[in-house]
Amino acid sequence: MKQEEKQEENGRPAQQEGQSVSFYISGVEILNNIGCGICICSSQEKVLFANERFAAFFNGKVDGKGVKELLSQALKDGKENGGGELYFEESEKWFDVHRKNIRWLDQRMAELYTVYDITEIKRYQQRIERQANNDFLTGLYNRIRCEKDLDEQICLTREKGGEGALLYMDLDDFKHINDGLGHQYGDVLLQGISYSLKRIPGIESSCYRMGGDEFIILVTDTVFSRLDRILEDICGIFEKPWFLKGADYYCTMSMGIVRFPTDGDTVQEVIKKADLALLEAKKAGKNRYKFYTAKEEGSSFKRLDLEKNMRNAIIDACNEFEVYYQPIVDISKPGNPCMGAEALIRWNCGNLGFVSPADFIPLAEYLGLINPIGDHVLLQSCRRCKHWNDSGHPEYKVNVNLSVVQLLRNDMAERVKDALQQTGLNPKNLTLEVTESLAINDMARMKQILGQIKNLGVRVALDDFGTGYSSLNHIREMPIDLIKIDRCFIEDLGRDEFADAFVRIVCELAAVIGMNVCVEGVEYERQYEILKEMQIHMIQGFYFDRPMKAEEFEKKYL
Ligand code: C2E
Ligand code: MG
Ligand code: MG
Repeated sequence: MKQEEKQEENGRPAQQEGQSVSFYISGVEILNNIGCGICICSSQEKVLFANERFAAFFNGKVDGKGVKELLSQALKDGKENGGGELYFEESEKWFDVHRKNIRWLDQRMAELYTVYDITEIKRYQQRIERQANNDFLTGLYNRIRCEKDLDEQICLTREKGGEGALLYMDLDDFKHINDGLGHQYGDVLLQGISYSLKRIPGIESSCYRMGGDEFIILVTDTVFSRLDRILEDICGIFEKPWFLKGADYYCTMSMGIVRFPTDGDTVQEVIKKADLALLEAKKAGKNRYKFYTAKEEGSSFKRLDLEKNMRNAIIDACNEFEVYYQPIVDISKPGNPCMGAEALIRWNCGNLGFVSPADFIPLAEYLGLINPIGDHVLLQSCRRCKHWNDSGHPEYKVNVNLSVVQLLRNDMAERVKDALQQTGLNPKNLTLEVTESLAINDMARMKQILGQIKNLGVRVALDDFGTGYSSLNHIREMPIDLIKIDRCFIEDLGRDEFADAFVRIVCELAAVIGMNVCVEGVEYERQYEILKEMQIHMIQGFYFDRPMKAEEFEKKYL
């Protein structure tokens, strides 16, 4: 029998003449006990040697042709000395395969294969990859995977033709459910929505959660012709209520839609435009979807710019935001002494220049960014006022505006308490201004939160009084100390009987129920005289001073 045939019989090379038996045995023994599989094949596709581990790796398959075919799958580059990975389906294992040309004992050319089991490493990699690509809460893919898939889709449609769409979805007022019922119910809702999305034919494996209550759905070129149907199905999810914490809740969504590559042909562009269309859907009254059109782009890009800069300013410790102070004076005393100031935020944006609060506060509220900004203003203002109080004016007070978004935070009273504790400000020298339109929306909740704030010893003012929808009766119910009459009534003082009567009546009413009144927007002497005659005490307006930097205020009033 020839040597090669012998090898096929017993899986071991035949002993060569002149070699010591013991050397051969210990050599094979070593090869059988090392961690990798070893196989040597002749150029005639015969197996000259295979160690036990190699046989075990491939379930004993060590016949010549089969082994070479199998191993060559890992060595696609065809190089003489090279390596690659191999997946062996039968045992569901991964191997790292290396090939090297060697000379066999009889000087024939042969191929040495070394094979390492890398299944554990592979599984670990896959797990990490899965974690990196999936959203933990909903099981949907995440932002990273979305951008990768979108990129592939855009390239595909650009190269091969065809069209796809990206749907950017944001739940409407999800915050209310989260805040009202608690995060765990918000999570249940997100999971429920994700589950329903994944069951819509055509988008089963192209739904992504981008974070929070935002989702993206990729309508690939293969199902693009069914876009209408897909949209119907998505809307259908939100037509029925969700059963949460023992009751039915409706949740609606707004969605922006972009077609690619027609509307945009990079990942960033497509997502940005979908976000713009989403904003248009929100502005149009929520609970709807909008296709991206170029005409909205101008104003929306401005808004995105504002948003980006605002986020950066917040990351930068709110340094671009400065608190100005406008004095409030007491005109019932000789010399109209200053009583303190209203804190008014100013944003001097490095990229956009000066942005007025009227322009950025509504957007900050919409984006929830008013919270960090508001915290900043509160802390700065308390610190300033404490400084004034310690510098010879223990009576000075500071008024800080609170937005509805801030007030609805469950821990608002706690935050106010923190600011007082951090700065050491006497609570009675802090007044928080809330606007009346908000105050009447949810009377019970508002009363509760304002009550908590008042329990700290802090005072509450109803700002812009007269511009909202509240009835005079409401001011009796609300736990407030001060009414600030809006400047629109002051503009017409002495010219319009209604304005005069309104201010007079509010003052009389306030006196009866023991509230103070402050009038804002006093610009002219004429207005000042009338208010003085009405025996109003507190006045704020350009007639005395404009809002100014803290240093300027201190130079003038300390
Ligand atoms: P507001 O709380 O009613 O503040 C009074 C506004 O009237 C201020 O405008 C002030 O500069 C302006 N003002 C004062 N006296 C006069 C006057 O005699 N004539 C005229 N024409 N205007 C006068 P500003 O600073 O532009 O603020 C606008 C609004 O932005 C504020 O109205 C307030 O609602 C909001 N805001 C300002 N700072 C903050 C803040 O820190 N947080 C929150 N949430 N809102 C703020
Ligand atoms: Mg105010
Ligand atoms: Mg006001």
